Amino acid sequence: MKLLSTGNPKILKGTKQGYNTYILHLAPYNLSGYQTCPKATAGCAAACLNTAGRGGMFKKGETTNVIQQARIRKTQFFFEERNGFMEWLVADIEKAIKQSARLNLIPVFRLNGTSDLSFEKYSVIRNGVQYDNVFFAFPEVQFYDYTKVLGRKIKHIPNYHLTFSAADGNDSDVVKAIEQGYNVATVFGIKKTEPMPATYNGREVFNGDDSDLRFLDPKGVIVGLYAKGKAKKDTTGFVKYPTIMMMAA
Ligand code: SF4
Repeated sequence: MKLLSTGNPKILKGTKQGYNTYILHLAPYNLSGYQTCPKATAGCAAACLNTAGRGGMFKKGETTNVIQQARIRKTQFFFEERNGFMEWLVADIEKAIKQSARLNLIPVFRLNGTSDLSFEKYSVIRNGVQYDNVFFAFPEVQFYDYTKVLGRKIKHIPNYHLTFSAADGNDSDVVKAIEQGYNVATVFGIKKTEPMPATYNGREVFNGDDSDLRFLDPKGVIVGLYAKGKAKKDTTGFVKYPTIMMMAA
């Protein structure tokens, strides 16, 4: 089983900047029977990118596909055979580093492509040496993720970048995340042909759809994302409507 994948359209934008993102896609929230998104909201679960692209293509009358089944198997592997999973992950990262060197690209890693696990808590072994987590095992590469879990203990991990994610009902966590210095990813209900709002919640908006390379973003910004897929029909409050808010203000 291959744990890491590349190749979604937004990730491919990063290759133009010299980076190759490898993503681990697990099954989100409790789809596998295990909870991978402790702070998932009704809105984000309904609009989750888990069903974006090929992951959301189902044959008529079917409710699953090979991509969804693979994500469920990987998640069960993670929860049921942790040591084996981490061994595979380390091996896949080693392979990715070599592959990227051949392609003359810088490998970067996003382990929560469709989950929100605190990977800083899981130890790994690389070349016979045990490390507290995969980030310490690979200090030479950059990792990044989005999270809705406030208070993750990552400040001492220089090669792991987190962007906080706004959703329906986590406004007070967003305020705290901003106070703690996080950029906040916010999904806006505007068309891709329309510009991002200049500011939101009093902060400059940075277009997060130009690439997925969040660790390169300026600090202290709202990372604006265009609503995609099911998010375009969101009514839970997960998607924010800046124009309507400005008119009401
Ligand atoms: S927390 Fe993220 S990965 Fe989990 S359900 Fe919500 S949007 Fe999907």
